[in-house]
Amino acid sequence: MSFGGSGPGADAGRPDSGQQARVLISVDGLSKEYASRTGPISALESLDFTISEHEFVSVIGPSGCGKSTLIRLMVGLAAPDAGEVRFGGAALTAASAPALRRRMGYVIQDGGLFPHMRARDNVTVMARHLGWDRARIDARLADLARLTAFPEDGLGRYPAQLSGGQRQRVSLMRALMLEPDVLLLDEPLGALDPMIRFELQGELRDIFQSLGKTVVLVTHDIGEAGYFGDTIVLMRDGAIVQAGTIAELIDRPAEPFVERFITAQRGLIQALEERR
Ligand code: ADP
Ligand code: MG
Repeated sequence: MSFGGSGPGADAGRPDSGQQARVLISVDGLSKEYASRTGPISALESLDFTISEHEFVSVIGPSGCGKSTLIRLMVGLAAPDAGEVRFGGAALTAASAPALRRRMGYVIQDGGLFPHMRARDNVTVMARHLGWDRARIDARLADLARLTAFPEDGLGRYPAQLSGGQRQRVSLMRALMLEPDVLLLDEPLGALDPMIRFELQGELRDIFQSLGKTVVLVTHDIGEAGYFGDTIVLMRDGAIVQAGTIAELIDRPAEPFVERFITAQRGLIQALEERR
């Protein structure tokens, strides 16, 4: 990942930066405002960064800092007020978004499954829309069920008949169905109970490693970000405060906020360590 600025968030000199890695996504001067009764809310303020192929980026920050807005703009579900997102060199516009979006798997915060469709139909809806034949759909679905350890008999159930962990597996299968180049996951584990969450974290990491895809994972948990991500992007109030490895954020915080954010979560981790 590389950043437009030359501040502490810039990654000049990092061994994995440089020309060899192909840039897959670039975000340039990206800004977004929402209208509200009390006037416009600035959700993103001129963000600049690039993500290379096969990079794993975690986006973290307090609730309301703009994480979901950033992902929605990156998948072309909302339009920026200024700046642009480029995907594989092509600008994401209202016209190009439908085709480019097929190369991105998006797991919406809270899963976003269609409640009136069975798991199988949720996963295959786009492939059917695109006219894939039955045999190809069934083969891909079987591969995905195996990959995500989803029970075959669950494919005939509606989302309300599945557990939280199973619903997230369905969301992940749906995002992977069209073999996207990049996966963007918005707090995919946020609503799960801690045991299931822990189990899925391990499984997801194995899945991501085996796929070798570019992944952008939104979380509000720095432990999760460090567990998954090569690069962590810490946001606050619509801006990037610091980007780097977990070690860089801990050892060289760009501002006091970084330290406070880490310390607030580290307290929990330390308490857990002491009980071992
Ligand atoms: P996060 O995912 O980090 O919690 P969001 O991107 O959802 O943050 O929200 C960023 C800011 O934009 C917040 O202040 C939020 O209230 C506001 N916001 C998000 N979506 C909308 C919307 N559709 N209309 C108005 N304000 C919104
Ligand atoms: Mg969000």
